[in-house]
Amino acid sequence: MGKKIKMVIAGAVMSSMIATNVYAFTDDTLHRSSISFIEKIVSFITSSSNKDENVSHDFSMYNDIYYYDSNNLSRYKSFSAKNPNVSPEDIIWLVNANLDRNFYDKAEKIENTEDEIILVNKYNYLPNDYVPKNLVDIENGKQATEATAKAFEEMKENAAIEGLSINVVSAYRSIDYQKNLYKQYIKRDGKELADTYSARAGYSEHHTGRALDIAAEDMDMNNFGNTQEYKWVAENCWKYGFIIRYTEENKNITGYQSEPWHITYVGTDISGVMHNQNISSLEEYFVKYVDYSVNN
Ligand SMILES: [Zn+2]
Repeated sequence: MGKKIKMVIAGAVMSSMIATNVYAFTDDTLHRSSISFIEKIVSFITSSSNKDENVSHDFSMYNDIYYYDSNNLSRYKSFSAKNPNVSPEDIIWLVNANLDRNFYDKAEKIENTEDEIILVNKYNYLPNDYVPKNLVDIENGKQATEATAKAFEEMKENAAIEGLSINVVSAYRSIDYQKNLYKQYIKRDGKELADTYSARAGYSEHHTGRALDIAAEDMDMNNFGNTQEYKWVAENCWKYGFIIRYTEENKNITGYQSEPWHITYVGTDISGVMHNQNISSLEEYFVKYVDYSVNN
């Protein structure tokens, strides 16, 4: 009897917490499709314990932050008004990463596809005719860029020394392959759900040849998060230039559910910075180290 009451109270507290922490992505009216996804999301950003919803931040005070962009001032203000518990420092990089917009809204075509690092997400897509230049065989009949394959081999060897087996399930995927895959998922689950786990054609990291879906010996990537192999990869992959791209922590940034099996090769310089600076998403890295730099 007492237990039931406690549970009800806990539920009420929980839902009020979620309500204050819900992180509204959109600039305009929320689409129904995005609401249900967002409702599942509790903001990763530490919210202040005080209710300061009526305080509007004076963003001009933050113009000494090197990634502050005066062109985005009105967007900072409006996004901040919708997310009163998010710090101005976070509002600034989130808006710079376009997270105040609906996914796929005003998405931009990626021009520099041969850059050391490419940001492919729901705001940045690859050209239709793009095929990575240096694809090589990786394993299990899959292909990846040469640097990705080399780094993976090294990581695999070192995991094997620990008695762990990591294997490639999926790697490079052409735009046509992705188009069909996404279509099948829509058929099965509907567009709303499919968008939370599958990329639209052109928007897939697998198109870069730098992303790998991996699994332990059972080759079941859906089970990967429960394995010793995953634990090892989560701890060590940065040493080989990989990041786990879609995590529980950053799902409101990437717009994808957590995918423990999906790793992306970014090179050790970048994975090292992300590891040392505790940066959980490539989106945040891009704002702070690619789009804006301390010296500008
Ligand atoms: Zn993947």
